[in-house]
Parts: sequence; C-alpha cells; structure tokens
Amino acid sequence: METKVAVRSGQKPEQPRIYTRSEHNISRDNISKNALKVLYRLKSEGYDAYLVGGCVRDLLLGREPKDFDVATNASPEQVKAAFRNCRLIGRRFRLAHVHFGREIIEVATFRGTAEDVQSSQKTDQNGRLLRDNHYGSIEEDVLRRDFTVNALYYNIKDFSIVDYVGGMDDHKAGVLRLIGDPETRYREDPVRMIRMVRFAVKLGFTINEACERPIFELATLLGNIPAARLQDEALKLFLSGYAVQTFEMLNHYGLFAQLYPVAAKSLQSEVSGFPRLFIAKALENTDKRLAEGKGIAPYFLFSTFLWDAVKEQVDENRAKGIPESIAYQQAASVVIAEQVKSTSFPKHIGTAMRDVWSLQARFDKRSGARPYRLLGHPKFRAAYDFLVLRATTGGAEQELADWWTEFQTATDADKKKMLAQLNNQSPKKRKRRRKPTVKQQKND
Ligand code: ATP
Ligand code: MG
Repeated sequence: METKVAVRSGQKPEQPRIYTRSEHNISRDNISKNALKVLYRLKSEGYDAYLVGGCVRDLLLGREPKDFDVATNASPEQVKAAFRNCRLIGRRFRLAHVHFGREIIEVATFRGTAEDVQSSQKTDQNGRLLRDNHYGSIEEDVLRRDFTVNALYYNIKDFSIVDYVGGMDDHKAGVLRLIGDPETRYREDPVRMIRMVRFAVKLGFTINEACERPIFELATLLGNIPAARLQDEALKLFLSGYAVQTFEMLNHYGLFAQLYPVAAKSLQSEVSGFPRLFIAKALENTDKRLAEGKGIAPYFLFSTFLWDAVKEQVDENRAKGIPESIAYQQAASVVIAEQVKSTSFPKHIGTAMRDVWSLQARFDKRSGARPYRLLGHPKFRAAYDFLVLRATTGGAEQELADWWTEFQTATDADKKKMLAQLNNQSPKKRKRRRKPTVKQQKND
C-alpha cells in the first residue's frame, strides 16, 4: 500500500489527496441538518468549515454517526459571533457548542502541534502531552489526531474529502493506524491505546502491526492518566455493545489490568473459574441487552468486576467477628477505594454498587417481613439480577434465585404460602425466628 506513514508529529504533512464528491459515498442526506446549517453558515461568513473525526469515518462506513464535529479556521470568538445559539466551553482548549434543542454541534478551531509551539506544548517525563492550547492550520490539526481514519475532513465548499494521511486507503483496507510514530503518539496520550481497542472492536478493523507492538510495553503508562478520564473511556468501552470482545482484547494487551487492577487480580487468583465465568456472563448480558435496545445501568457491570474482591474482604471481616451488614459496608469501602485509584466512578455508581453487594446477603433471609422489605428496596431489581447471575455461574444456589423469581411476581396470597412453606421446610429457622415471623406476617 502506498499510504504515507512518513508523517511525524510536529512535521508538516504532504499535499492532501482530495476525493471529489463522485469518489466517495458521503451524501448530505445522511448528515444532520443542524451540522449542515453550521457548516453553511461558517462558509457564508467566509471561513473554511469541515466535518471531521468519527462522523466522517462512520458515514463512510454507512453508519449513523453518534454526533457531528466541525473543524474550522474561525476562532472560537468568531464562531460565537456567527451563531446566536452558541456557547464557548473548555478552558484548556476552547470549543464552541452550537445548540439546536437537544443536539449540540461541536465546532473546534484547527489546533496546532507543530515545532513552533514548544512553549505551549509541554510533555511530562514519559512524553505525555500536558498542554496543547494553540490554534493552527488544517495541516497541523490533522497531525494532532489519533488515527488516520479519524483524520478525514469533509469539505462543505465542494463536498470533497480531504485526506492528508492515507486515511481513505486505511479505511478501505479496514486498518487502524496511528498518525506518526506509534510509540511517540502513545506516550503523548496513553488513552490512545484504549481508543485503539475500542475502535478495532467497534469498527471491526485490524490494528496495524507497528501500532500494535508497543502497546504491551506501554500499557502501564495508563497509570498516569487521571482516574476520571479513564472512567469516561471505560464507559465507552463497555457500553458500546461489544463488551465481550472489548474485554478480551483489553486483556490480550494487558490494558484491562491497568483499568481494573482489582478485577484483574481476582481473575488471576481464581481457583474455581468463578470470577471469569461470572464477569464473562455479565459482559455477555450487557451486550445482549444493548442489542435488544434495552437500557443498562453502568454500575451493574462494574459491580460484577469487583464482586470477588468484595466477597473476599467480607469473609475476612466475618472471620474477625464483624457483623454481616457492617462487614459488607466495610468491604465495599475498601474495594471501591482501591479501584478508584485507577478508574474512578461518580459517587452514585459507588452507592449503587454498595447496595447491590450488601443486598446479596439479604436474599438468604426469608423469614417474616424481611422478603417484603427487600422487594421494596430501590435496588431490588438490580440486586436480584445480580443474584441470578451468580446462580447461573455457580456462585449462589439456583434454588434461591428461583424462589425470588417466583416470589416477586406471586400474588399476595401466594407470597404468604411461599413463606409459610419455607418455614415448614426449615423447622430450625422457624424456631429461631418464631416471634417476628408470626407478628409480622399478621401485619402483611
Ligand atoms: P465516537 O464515534 O466514539 O465518538 P470519535 O472518533 O468521534 O468516535 P471522539 O472521542 O468523539 O471520537 O473524538 C473526536 C475526534 O477527535 C477523533 O476522531 C480524533 O480525530 C480526535 N481525538 C479524540 N481523542 C483523541 C486523542 N486522545 N488523541 C488524538 N486525537 C483524538
Ligand atoms: Mg465523536
């Protein structure tokens, strides 16, 4: 392939290859009306305006883009002046958001990375870019992008695609390739390793060999990335409908352990195969639900990643004589604190995970009003799904999961029967809990 990979960060790219309207399949019918409005307006104001990034890549594949990003030579202030419905955001690099009801078209001024920006482009000792807040030309904007297929520009002036880096050839060949020297680009921003995996899975593209090799060695650089940024990426990784493949590929490159060291440790130390089976099933269910158009709660998947570690910690606590509910709370705190050092969660995710874990202990307690109280818990449904998952992978009694399956949809009368039957079956339990059982059942 005659694709030029000679382009290095900080160098000017060669003349672009222009694909005219008749040489590509992007039709304006598939571009958001609002994005077109933005492009046309910028053009009529005398600026250059392009669609760029994921939307061009997805349109070429005949897919519906998630969102439409625009790149222009107008400064953010000039963009703002051209639109009434525009707000400037971002401190590190200013972006214009043009609002149309719920749709936001993001307009970015070309960004520079050339050698003349040394003063504004700082790297740490690993080569990570700390700042790159400098406007530039389209040629420079191309070079700061990650993959060749993400660096194609759709020009509103003549509906052509402008390709400086052989992105169209890579696109046709289904290849993901970093622009410039792979190691340098990973060092500048280690998150690109994860993005590589995400796009390889999502697009079904292969990773160019020279870009694949350094990942094994550089994976640990993710340790320097703020945990909150990794969380944003993690959500995209696992909630895009290809969680199973993504997990396998992340594992292959040693990236999963960087994102979820706690889970990776459980997977390593497993004896029975349980954590692997459990997590695999959870990933599978996530994909299945998304394929069926059902919603999913991110905390659910993450709670499965950490469950084995929580259980271990609960067992330790119980051995020390700590009461069960406290043992769960404490275990959850320890495990979450360990996890958020790598990939953080927003607080509500932590709270929901805690609930799902500690409710597991309550499924066993089926006397008196307890089952009713559990049914009424806001996280009952998630905790129940979690129990079913445990049961199908050998981590809980199938009988218990089945009981709860039946109980939650049973009529009031049947619920009472189920509880009475349970008490008859276990005289020991009945004896121990006779008083509350009798009293509370009367109230129900
Ligand atoms: P998606 O469909 O997931 O949104 P995308 O390619 O649009 O895919 P974004 O994260 O929205 O991904 O980024 C938009 C564009 O910005 C990318 O196509 C790429 O050109 C550039 N980009 C994003 N993140 C990076 C990065 N870490 N390094 C270099 N360029 C990046
Ligand atoms: Mg995008």
